[in-house]
Amino acid sequence: MTAAEDLRFPDVDLNIYSKNNPVDVPILKSEIATRASSPNIIRHIVFDLSGTELEGRFVAGQSIGILPPGLNEKGKPHVLRLYSICSPSFGEDGQGRQYATTVKRLIGEHWDTQQLFTGVCSNYLSSLRPGDMVKVTGPSGKRFILPEQPEQFNYVFFATGTGIAPFRGMVMELMKRGNKKNIALVFGSPYRTDLLYDSFFRGLDERESWFHYLPTISRENPRTDGSRPYVQSQLTDRADLLKPILERDDTLIYVCGLKGMETGIIQGLAANGLHQYLKYKEELSGDPIGWDEQTIRRSIKPSGRMFLEVY
Ligand code: FAD
Ligand code: NAP
Repeated sequence: MTAAEDLRFPDVDLNIYSKNNPVDVPILKSEIATRASSPNIIRHIVFDLSGTELEGRFVAGQSIGILPPGLNEKGKPHVLRLYSICSPSFGEDGQGRQYATTVKRLIGEHWDTQQLFTGVCSNYLSSLRPGDMVKVTGPSGKRFILPEQPEQFNYVFFATGTGIAPFRGMVMELMKRGNKKNIALVFGSPYRTDLLYDSFFRGLDERESWFHYLPTISRENPRTDGSRPYVQSQLTDRADLLKPILERDDTLIYVCGLKGMETGIIQGLAANGLHQYLKYKEELSGDPIGWDEQTIRRSIKPSGRMFLEVY
């Protein structure tokens, strides 16, 4: 039996604090995570969980719940929003007392009224200053975590935007465990100014032969066919690096970020003959790159070796 056929996941704590029983914790730090010239505002926000039941209880890949104050347009309290923890299980401080997340301010324009639209929770959280208190819940999530004995596997991580958050924590976790297996991190951003934790990942790539960082910038240089470079494009463009890792029987794929990645990654895996990551409910014919989203949703699920958290 291969390591991937005998996958087991650790038991993790869930909802020690819930929306009916949240806990107030202080913000310890809030730092800009994008370069100053980026039009997007993304912050690395650290919570101090000292003295709460959450000390040492998050694992990489889980999320923290945030309850923004105030009422929605129906006069009901705002609902809880989830944010991925970007720290390893030992926290930002190594003691499991400080955990961080990576938050993007949701800002847009109403298409009909041309009025500014600002997402409730991301803007509330991003405006908090060190020392301000925030109501949190969690931990949340038990399916998007590293397996038991995680250093026995190779990983290909696909992230878009703030979907990088869980992978920062997972990579730090694997480093602490003395990882020597291959990790490829394929990270998609609109511009170079939006790359998150770029110097950490770049430095690791330069230092460690087992770590491969593939930043994938969609809006600067198009591919030779004129299309935007997306994370799934790297399955073709960097097949020299990714295919040998993906063909091993002890490799796992994790995907986090925008919903649209799911279709593209499934197409890319099928087009490269990497069917071991896919479970077909019905046989499909033709060029996988031409399979549409509906067909894929109806006919293909990830196999037990691929984990998706996309929204
Ligand atoms: P809301 O006030 O909830 O607004 C969002 C809604 O606004 C959507 O329905 C959208 O359709 C609509 N909308 C968007 N733009 C416009 C517009 N211009 N006009 C009209 N309507 C519009 N986010 C992160 O930043 N970092 C994370 O690590 C992270 N992790 C997550 C983990 C999980 C498991 C999940 C489920 C989500 C995660 N998210 C993360 C997303 C996060 O939970 C929130 O959904 C996000 O921050 C937006 O919340 P908000 O309250 O700011 O926006
Ligand atoms: P973004 O910056 O808007 O986009 C990141 C990159 O993805 C851009 O280069 C974008 O290209 C590209 N992209 C767009 N469509 C794509 C597709 N179909 N396939 C592959 N790549 C595509 O991302 P963001 O605003 O940070 O959004 C991140 C998303 O992740 C949010 O929806 C957030 O809720 C979610 N998230 C989920 C979790 C979780 O579930 N745990 C954690 C964190 C974040 P172009 O725009 O140039 O086309």
